[in-house]
Amino acid sequence: MTHPVVLTLNAGSSSLKFGLYAIDGAPVEMAMGLIEAIGRQPRLKAEFGGAAPAVTRDLAAAEAADHASALDTALGLLRAQFPQAQATAVGHRVVHGGPGFDAPVVVDDAVMAELKRLSPFAPLHQPHNIAGIEAAQAAFPDALQVACFDTAFHRRHPKVNDVFALPREYYDKGVRRYGFHGLSYDYISGELGRIAPLLHDGRVIVAHLGNGASMCALQNGRSIASTMGFTALDGLPMGTRTGQIDPGVIFYLVQQEGLSIDEVRQLFYTKSGLLGLSGLSNDMRTLEAAGTQEANEAIDYFVFRIRRELGGLAAALGGLDALVFCGGIGENSRLIRERVCEGMGWLGIELDRGRNTENATVISTDLSRARILVIPTNEELVIARAAKGFLDAAV
Ligand code: AMP
Repeated sequence: MTHPVVLTLNAGSSSLKFGLYAIDGAPVEMAMGLIEAIGRQPRLKAEFGGAAPAVTRDLAAAEAADHASALDTALGLLRAQFPQAQATAVGHRVVHGGPGFDAPVVVDDAVMAELKRLSPFAPLHQPHNIAGIEAAQAAFPDALQVACFDTAFHRRHPKVNDVFALPREYYDKGVRRYGFHGLSYDYISGELGRIAPLLHDGRVIVAHLGNGASMCALQNGRSIASTMGFTALDGLPMGTRTGQIDPGVIFYLVQQEGLSIDEVRQLFYTKSGLLGLSGLSNDMRTLEAAGTQEANEAIDYFVFRIRRELGGLAAALGGLDALVFCGGIGENSRLIRERVCEGMGWLGIELDRGRNTENATVISTDLSRARILVIPTNEELVIARAAKGFLDAAV
């Protein structure tokens, strides 16, 4: 007997995250795994809920030489654990949906052509997402392939927050503020609707603080502004990315320092942010423990930019009813949450240090005008739900 399931895939530049969901009712996670350092020294981590012990092991190079072989390895593992499971749909995280996609779609030939056309907008990620879809099509020719976009949640931004002050022809060519982390914000918006419906209908800022970091202003549960722009480089400083930077720096680096455009790209994406400023690590835990002047300055800059964006997004919303932290840093770092909220009484938020230390869901004081919450995000579940939705609609 076979058991229908949804597989979720999130293909990064050198990683593949995979999830398996039971879909008898609302999707329920059965397994979650990650293969990192594909094409280098690959490593696998996977958890199977209560069904089997977690696995962590180095892989042979051939087991994850590229995304297709990494998917084979992941599927081999899942088939061994869940021999009855049969993927009836595969949900994919796709970084860029361009101006057109404002919701998940079933991938057909026309959609695939459009995803390829959008590749130049996200050359570091989109080709891997497409490779993931093609590998899944080959592995599961009868399954629905569903694309879920990081940009879609932001596609209804007001025009003023969708344009750059460039000649209009560039807007028409797609040079717009797209915003990213949309699957995470979609999840948080849904969770707020479930646990605090009044807040969901109000003015909310979500700070997704992980290795990638951005913030989003939600009004009535919908995104009206975000700190990321044309690419996932804008806004907050990140593990290795600059965040917002004066574009004049690029001209200087190219014209005076002699860097090529590829070298500038490498510098901005992989050597900057917390890593660049600290000279030590992109990892917040390491920086918090280090206590060196450089590590502290990196943390100071991270916190300063979050606080600046908090003010800016609150102005865009016309006030604030709730601030939500999520992502690896937002969900776990008491220090960062405390420092972000320090002296923010003017914005109506007051942190309860005890609740913050306990990692409670609500970490504001009872008297705080706006609530402060910590909500663990779950992008994979948003993908699984979208895939299940298409399966239900097809019945
Ligand atoms: P993500 O990309 O969402 O997985 O988040 C990764 C980031 O979360 C890294 O910078 C980690 O150091 C950070 N992180 C995870 N746990 C903690 C913690 N307990 N304290 C501080 N930072 C943490």
